[in-house]
Amino acid sequence: MTRAPSSDELTINVATLLGEPPGSVRDYVFTGLAVDLGPDLALARPVDARFHLARTNRGLLVGGDARTALAEICSRCLRPIEVEIDTGFAEEALPSIELMSGAPIDTSAEPEVARLTDHHEVELEPFVREAIQLAAPIAPLCRPDCPGLCPTCGEELASGPHDHGDEAVDPRLEALRAFRVDGETETR
Ligand SMILES: [Zn+2]
Ligand SMILES: [Zn+2]
Repeated sequence: MTRAPSSDELTINVATLLGEPPGSVRDYVFTGLAVDLGPDLALARPVDARFHLARTNRGLLVGGDARTALAEICSRCLRPIEVEIDTGFAEEALPSIELMSGAPIDTSAEPEVARLTDHHEVELEPFVREAIQLAAPIAPLCRPDCPGLCPTCGEELASGPHDHGDEAVDPRLEALRAFRVDGETETR
């Protein structure tokens, strides 16, 4: 992907919104985001995300949704696949300093909650990243009934039933079998 890292683009100054009464809202739409998902997940295409920021009496409620596709491997047949992701989120983001005085707020009581920066900015990328990570399947499948790989020869069972029998394979038949498999692969 050629886009610059999206973290700057996804850091939004909310000082004005924080000065408005609870219930005030802002909406943002982003397309083509290159969100860093960490070492275990890779995007198959950029992320489209919408955000709905609502002023609460404590800070902000960050709601929204994200759509993308992940580059995965089928957990049964090991074929590369794309997994569609369409997920939502709604989490609080609370100030780390007092809006009026700039005095630091004790954040130790709620260490898990997202915090605004001390420049009254909300960083939106973590909300998208965590929502996609939560939505990613633990054991992705190319199709729900993927039969996986033959435990004897490692061939995809989806390419058709086959039988090894218990006897040693005649070398001439083995050559024929390899020929047949190659032919199937080429016509796929
Ligand atoms: Zn599969
Ligand atoms: Zn087999």
